[in-house]
Amino acid sequence: MAALMWFRSDLRIHDNPALHEACRTNRRNTLAVFAICPDQWREHDWGAMKVDFILRNLHSLSDSLAKLGIPLRLIRTNRFTDLPPKLLNLARRHKCTSLFFNKEYETNELARDQAVTALFERSKLQVQTCTDQIIIEPHKLRTSAGKPYTVFTPFKRKWCKTLSISGPPTLLSSPRKTTPTILTPIDIPNTLKGFSGHIRPDLWPAGEKHAHRLLRNFLSRQADTYHINRDLPGADATSTLSPYLAAGVLSPRQCMVAAYQANDNRLDSANSGIAAWINELIWREFYRHVLIGFPHVGRNLPFRLETDHLPWRTDTRQFEAWATGHTGVPIVDAGMRQLLETGWMHNRLRMIVAMFLTKDLFIDWRWGQEHFMRHLIDGDFASNNGGWQWSASTGTDAAPYFRLFNPSTQSRRFDSQGEFIRRYVNELKQTPTSDIHEPHKSKSPPAKYPAPIADHRQASRHVAMAFKSLPQWKAL
Ligand code: FAD
Repeated sequence: MAALMWFRSDLRIHDNPALHEACRTNRRNTLAVFAICPDQWREHDWGAMKVDFILRNLHSLSDSLAKLGIPLRLIRTNRFTDLPPKLLNLARRHKCTSLFFNKEYETNELARDQAVTALFERSKLQVQTCTDQIIIEPHKLRTSAGKPYTVFTPFKRKWCKTLSISGPPTLLSSPRKTTPTILTPIDIPNTLKGFSGHIRPDLWPAGEKHAHRLLRNFLSRQADTYHINRDLPGADATSTLSPYLAAGVLSPRQCMVAAYQANDNRLDSANSGIAAWINELIWREFYRHVLIGFPHVGRNLPFRLETDHLPWRTDTRQFEAWATGHTGVPIVDAGMRQLLETGWMHNRLRMIVAMFLTKDLFIDWRWGQEHFMRHLIDGDFASNNGGWQWSASTGTDAAPYFRLFNPSTQSRRFDSQGEFIRRYVNELKQTPTSDIHEPHKSKSPPAKYPAPIADHRQASRHVAMAFKSLPQWKAL
């Protein structure tokens, strides 16, 4: 009897529920597989940074699996729809009688998994799925009316209460070495056609070891002051673990357990910094639960359906200025250039640039969501969609439409000396702090830097009018 373990966004051997189960129930013989699906990935707007990170982590995963005696096979197919027969063939060729995988919740991923499960079961092979991406199952987190939560604070309260009853998550033991029948090296590509572009492997080393080192360093060095510094993009105060969580090189349980232990075995209070960090991990959970509870958000629709009638502007020139970091608003341009340069953007900046696009420019949040996905190394549908809809006031628990971030106020507050701006906006390197937030207002504006492409006050009035003219806001 052999088991087929199908890796997807869970590229790790530790605390991996499906791998754990596959090895537990088929101790002698487990085969692993990963499917490379370039066309589907392109359709999902995955960019060069994300794909490069996945390929490098596959190398690392393959090495770790080899040490356990588990061979990794690759399937190359363009689309998810071609996958079921290819997986079945592989399973049959290696006499696997069961398939194991961790659940994913996006629309096409769900359809793919249903098709694979149906084909395997029709062929008399067993399928076992495990929960990995969320810590508490959706059915355990319901409002008193039995519905999924749409507001973060009560969700968090229920989440913490549920965990305090069940106890903190426990980590799974690592699989033990098995004796495989075949162990030939595989050829993992270093690049994929269609995903070339700027990459920064130096910034984002691959592998579980590195992810755990980051987690340990964060908890021992930065976590204590996280609640104070987390909003300062220049401060290097957050964990930068998001790419590892998105690719599943690290599990949310591993983060939560480490934080819980560092916080005197508590979820909130105790250490304010760690409690604030746990709060962010719960935001991650929240957006996954939203996707599961309200699957229409996975089909390109706003959570609040009536906001689909907003007359978003389609100004491609302004969109391009935003996307390349040439809006004339320094904090926005610094954020957008950080994204292009590093594949990552600080959370405060993600909110500022998203608000700027959707409110100051009144451009459809889906354009921004797509651009982020194409450039983020941590591109993750649920968090990206949740963040964009929050900023655009179209989502669950969204910022009220009349609350607009004023970019220059945000800039003064969170980058007061303009250090972060100067790091990414070369044209402003010599601009004094007094002028850095609104250089166009200085007596001698920097020659090579544009004037702002939007007027914040005017934009606020326009947004208010557009939202007010929508049919009555309805709760779903
Ligand atoms: P830390 O501050 O160290 O937080 C720890 C972890 O908690 C993060 O790694 C992340 O997994 C989770 N987390 C933190 N903040 C949030 C949040 N607001 N929402 C959901 N999870 C959170 N995050 C992604 O992982 N992928 C995305 O594609 C993504 N797109 C976003 C788009 C917009 C418009 C906005 C406003 C936010 C987005 N986020 C996304 C959330 C957040 O910005 C990043 O998770 C965070 O900046 C990652 O940095 P970090 O690992 O240092 O976070």
